[in-house]
Amino acid sequence: MLSEAFGGDLEVTLIDKTDAFVFGFSKLDVMFGRTTADAVRLPYSDIVKPGVRFRQETITAIDPERRWVTTDAGDYEADILVIALGADYDFDATPGLADGGNEFYTEAGAARLAEIVPTFSEGRVVIGVCDAPYKCPPAPSECALLLDDALTARGVRDACEISFVLPLGRPVPPSPETSAALESEFAARNITFIPGRRISSVDGARNVTALDDGTELPFELFLGVPKHRAPDVVIASGMTEDGYVPVESATLRTRYPGVFAIGDVATAGVPKAGVFAEGAARVVARQVIAEVRDSEGPGPYDGRGSCYIEFGSGRVGRVDIDFLSGPTKTGSFNAPSAALVAEKEHFGSSRRARWFG
Ligand SMILES: Cc1cc2nc3c(=O)[nH]c(=O)nc-3n(C[C@H](O)[C@H](O)[C@H](O)COP(=O)(O)OP(=O)(O)OC[C@H]3O[C@@H](n4cnc5c(N)ncnc54)[C@H](O)[C@@H]3O)c2cc1C
Repeated sequence: MLSEAFGGDLEVTLIDKTDAFVFGFSKLDVMFGRTTADAVRLPYSDIVKPGVRFRQETITAIDPERRWVTTDAGDYEADILVIALGADYDFDATPGLADGGNEFYTEAGAARLAEIVPTFSEGRVVIGVCDAPYKCPPAPSECALLLDDALTARGVRDACEISFVLPLGRPVPPSPETSAALESEFAARNITFIPGRRISSVDGARNVTALDDGTELPFELFLGVPKHRAPDVVIASGMTEDGYVPVESATLRTRYPGVFAIGDVATAGVPKAGVFAEGAARVVARQVIAEVRDSEGPGPYDGRGSCYIEFGSGRVGRVDIDFLSGPTKTGSFNAPSAALVAEKEHFGSSRRARWFG
């Protein structure tokens, strides 16, 4: 948006330690063999836009007072700083997780599971979310349903048990209808749903995971979602409170002048999901454009976003979330349909084209 508005007249520097972007949902596609880890990587070097330069560097320090960023390759001083470093995974917060289980929230974890899932033919699977908040609240439910599909397709489902442990009371709390649809899908597929519980530890030697109420669940395959937290460099900057960067929801401004925070790293009152990171980014871009042009700024960030949900058997549903525009948080459910399969595909391909084309 900044490049479209100003071309080369504004200097935009995009810094990321990795060389490519991967959509969150692509990790499930990789895990279940719909595509490969290489095929879903979108190289940042493909972003060729006037005024925008990409630097593959690791940020080692942020000084929000001075809007100063230090990387492993140098220093950057900015008039406007947008912190968008996402949420990191805190493997150490759950004893045994790193060694005793598998996770499907990183590219490497999803790629590893793409080797394991097709060979798993018998035994107990526990899909366990270690703590909330975590990225994309419906993703672990999708994992359970897609795993059921994969085991059924290979004719081994009857020899397997699937349990799904979730810290939330329901799969998608702001949308009772979406939650009910997922819960009835779990029941129809004989997936044991254990809501309101966290994973406390994973014991890979005994093949047992402990929940926060002391219950133990045995497993032959553990698929975990690690506890999340802001990256260390953000915490060290002094910008965080309760683990994330507080922002004014309407504007995404931090308490530091000229410093915004968007996406999973921020506490904007919305779920941690890409569609909200994108919506927040739009509002920030509009404010920057207005500031540079000395024109009227945009309306407040509305916290709206649509999340596509894999229901298994090739079906996709959608929940339309609205967290900030009204007096209450709402989420309306759109039942799975062929049209939504096509819509999800368009969601990904249109963004690929716009951002990387
Ligand atoms: C399995 C799964 C399924 C998902 N499905 C969906 C979905 O269907 N819809 C949806 O909307 N969301 C989905 N998500 C969530 C979505 O991927 C995230 O919420 C989204 O990517 C957050 O965007 P972000 O820009 O805040 O952070 P990120 O996308 O995590 O980006 C942060 C970037 O910061 C970089 N970084 C971090 N630290 C440093 C540093 N020190 N120096 C330099 N760079 C650094 C990282 O390399 C990273 O590229 C899913 C997530 C998962 C794991």
